Amino acid sequence: MVIIKIIKLSKDLVIGAWSLIKGLVITLKNCFIPAITLQYPAQKQPMTDRFRGLVDLHPEKCIICYQCVKICPVACLAIAHKQENNKKVISEFKYNMELCCFCGMCQQVCPTSAIYMNKIYEISVYDRDKTHINLLNPGKYIEWLNTSIK
Ligand code: SF4
Ligand code: SF4
Repeated sequence: MVIIKIIKLSKDLVIGAWSLIKGLVITLKNCFIPAITLQYPAQKQPMTDRFRGLVDLHPEKCIICYQCVKICPVACLAIAHKQENNKKVISEFKYNMELCCFCGMCQQVCPTSAIYMNKIYEISVYDRDKTHINLLNPGKYIEWLNTSIK
């Protein structure tokens, strides 16, 4: 009986020592690997090319075809236009960021790549009015650009 107990204890001791050595080897190996953790928010990960941030616009490219408005599943885009010298001119291009589901369908359907999704991802705001964005305003995202990776 005592011998069986000693054998079991020795077995446990060997298993415990082996697992301790394995853990120490892994720790030692990782001591020499450069850290991959970013010190967010001081350091930020650059976004990939296909990242879908906030909806943005090149107004000069827009041909006012309304395809983005029609395809948007949550109706968060609104365009208005007027006639000037027999030409259509955009007078309003609104984007309700609060409703947007970031599906990217507006940018996919746009025939001139006028509408696109930028790289801004830190989009929390205290004021709800700020979620209603005028896409024709060139300074619309300045506040967010200062905090997000461009
Ligand atoms: S990303 Fe999707 S939900 Fe957002 S505006 Fe474009 S189509 Fe609408
Ligand atoms: S789909 Fe493109 S070109 Fe057409 S209205 Fe929208 S942004 Fe303008």
